[in-house]
This record gives sequence, C-alpha cells and structure tokens, in this order.
Amino acid sequence: MNREDIIKLPKLDLHCHLDGSLSKVFLEKTLGRNFTMEELSVSMDCNSLVEYLKKFDIPLEAMNTQENIKAATVEVMKSASDEGVKYIEIRFAPLLSASNSMSTKAVIEAVIAGIQEGSELFNIHGNAICCAMTHQPIEDSKSMFKIAREYYGSGVAGLDLAGDEANHPIGEFKELFEFARDLGMNFTIHAGEAGPKSNIKGAIDYGAKRIGHGIAMRNDEELLKLAKDKGIGIEMCPISNYQTKAVLKEQTYPYADYIRRGILATINTDNRLVSNTSITNEILFLQKKSMIDDRDILQGIKNAIEVSFASDDIKNMLWKEL
Ligand SMILES: [Zn+2]
Repeated sequence: MNREDIIKLPKLDLHCHLDGSLSKVFLEKTLGRNFTMEELSVSMDCNSLVEYLKKFDIPLEAMNTQENIKAATVEVMKSASDEGVKYIEIRFAPLLSASNSMSTKAVIEAVIAGIQEGSELFNIHGNAICCAMTHQPIEDSKSMFKIAREYYGSGVAGLDLAGDEANHPIGEFKELFEFARDLGMNFTIHAGEAGPKSNIKGAIDYGAKRIGHGIAMRNDEELLKLAKDKGIGIEMCPISNYQTKAVLKEQTYPYADYIRRGILATINTDNRLVSNTSITNEILFLQKKSMIDDRDILQGIKNAIEVSFASDDIKNMLWKEL
C-alpha cells in the first residue's frame, strides 16, 4: 500500500494526547508568539522520555481556558479526519489544566464539547479518555475519576494513567485502579514504555483493558501469552517509541510480532505535534523499515475496532466501513 491507499483506509487512533497534538499554527495564534518546530517537537535524536515530555510545556500553556481547550480538541479531530481517521480517542489530564478559574468539570466538558463539534463538522467520531498523572496525589486522581464518571458513555469512554512510569511503579496505583473498577469504567494504563514489564503485568492484574505502549513485554513469552489470552489491546506508538528510546534504532519494532501471535496490537500516534506524526506516517514508517506488510496494517485496524472504547453503534459503523 502506498500513502494514498493508506489515507483511504478507515483508520482509528486510540492513543492520542490532546496537549501533544495541537498544531504550530494553533499555538502561535493562541499564545500570540512564534515558535520553531524544534521548540515544539522532537527528532529521532531525542534522548529519553524525560526530554520528550519537556515539549508539553508550551501546549499546556495554551490549554488555559474552556474556549481554547474546545478549539484545540476540534483542531485535533480535523487533523485526524484529514488523513482518514474515522474514530479517535483523545486523552488529556484534566488536573493539568484545572485551576482556580477553571474546574476539573469545566476542563472535561470543554474537551467533550470539542469532540462533539469535531464530529459534527468532520467525517469522524470520537471519545475522551481522562488521564491521571503518576506525580499527582492518588486522592486528587480519585476525585477526578469520580467527576469523569458523570460523563461516562456521553463523551468520556475511559480512564488512563500517564507520566513518569519508570519512577512510579504500578504498585503505587493499585488503590486508584480498584477505585476505577468500582466505578465500572474502562481503563488503559501507560505501561512498559520507559518502565519495566512488571508495570504491564500489574496493569493487567488491576483490570486494564488496554496497555499504552507495552514494549517491555516483547521478550517475555509468559506475559505475551497473558496479554493474548486476556484479549488486552496494545496501543503501540512506533515513532514516539523510537524517539524516547523505548525501542533503540537498531531494534525491530515488536508490532508485527505481537500481531502474528494474535495479540490485539494497534498503531497510534501518541502525540501528533511532539512526534510530528499521523497514523498514515506511523504506518509508512514501519513499512519503510520493512517491519510490517499489508496484512499487519489491516489486522491493526480490526484490532483497534475490537479494543476501542466506542459504543456498539460506532463499532458496527466502523466494521461496515472496513
Ligand atoms: Zn501516551
């Protein structure tokens, strides 16, 4: 498949951070100053996840009012729709934008309003995923989850944990995800990106339906089998993983191996601006390195429909488009 064929495919993006996916034009307009791409995104020369995460300071500055957050969300919906994405799950950390002048509830409502407007204007559907951050107090994250629960099924489709996974082992969050389970909400957890495979095992044990990245289990037959048997969705983000050095440049990306084992792996962007990418670029990137074939591409889309947190109506629509 060439670029045009790939654009025509009805794609999904299940792992897309709102703050990391704004455009340069949007940031310049919103903040009233100019930026270079070096200030906003990383190249393959990026050294680590910590360096990568520094690029989020400028976008977060722009997500300071409900109006800006809504406009930012509409913009991400548009950029995804422009490359043929039919369904997107946009994740964000409500507590990073909440302030004295904007409540957690207001932040969540702004993103939901943006997704709704985006789906009315463009040929795409979407849902929000609310992320807890590893550095935030558990009690604050629980309160945020409880607020997100009010919108579950009407804009919010799930929860997540993001941040510095290497310095915050999954055990710290047992109580948080027991709480999420008690709320009856679907959740995914960033695990095995910069952190160890024990984070993936813990996330599955706590009831995560999906894992963000899941690179660290690549050589662990037992864990790979567990992920397969439990039907865990793996949200893989190839370009980001090479940039943060979760995968080193001489290493083969494990996506095709996961797919051929019957694991429900999917291809996602992570951060459209910070990684300067799109789903189309992610697929072309793996294809150019001869790490996938056409069957792997199609299987990834089927897997994404299966493990998405979308309603049955949307899933049926997506199956019909494929
Ligand atoms: Zn992520």
